[in-house]
Amino acid sequence: MPKILRAGRLFEVDLEQLFALGVRALLLDADNTLCFWHSLQIPEETLLWLRRAKRMGFQLAVVSNAQTRRLEPLATRLSLPVFYRAMKPLPFAPLRAARALAVSPKACAMIGDQILTDLPAGLLCGMLSVLVEPLDRSRESAFTKGFSRRIERILGR
Ligand SMILES: [Mg+2]
Repeated sequence: MPKILRAGRLFEVDLEQLFALGVRALLLDADNTLCFWHSLQIPEETLLWLRRAKRMGFQLAVVSNAQTRRLEPLATRLSLPVFYRAMKPLPFAPLRAARALAVSPKACAMIGDQILTDLPAGLLCGMLSVLVEPLDRSRESAFTKGFSRRIERILGR
C-alpha cells in the first residue's frame, strides 16, 4: 500500500485503484478539492464521481479547515457528514471522521490539494494521502499562492 498518491483533480481520482488498495472511506478536503475555493460550486464531473464512489460502497466525509457556517449548505446538498475546523495537518479531525464512519484509518484516504495540510494530515493518521490538483489555481488564498505553491515547486510537484 503506497502512502502517497498523486492525481489530477478530485473527479480524476481512480476509484477502482483505491478500492483495489483496500480503501473504503474517502475523506475529502473542501476548498479547491470538492468545490471551488470559498464557493459552494461543485463541478458536474465531481457530482458524478461522488455518486459513483457511493455506488461502489465507499464511505464519504468532508474534512475541512473551514468554519462550519460556510460549509453547511454543502453538507446538506451532498448529504455528507462534514468535519469542519479540522486544523489539518493535525490528525484529530480525520481520525474522528474515520471513527464516525466506522472505518479503520488504514482503510481511509485523505484527499486534498494542499501539500502542507491535507497531505501530512493523512500521513499522520496512517491513511493513504491523495494529493490532487486544485480545481482552480487562480482562486486560492494569498498564503497558498505565495508560500505553499512555492514549496510544492521546490519539492518538484
Ligand atoms: Mg483545499
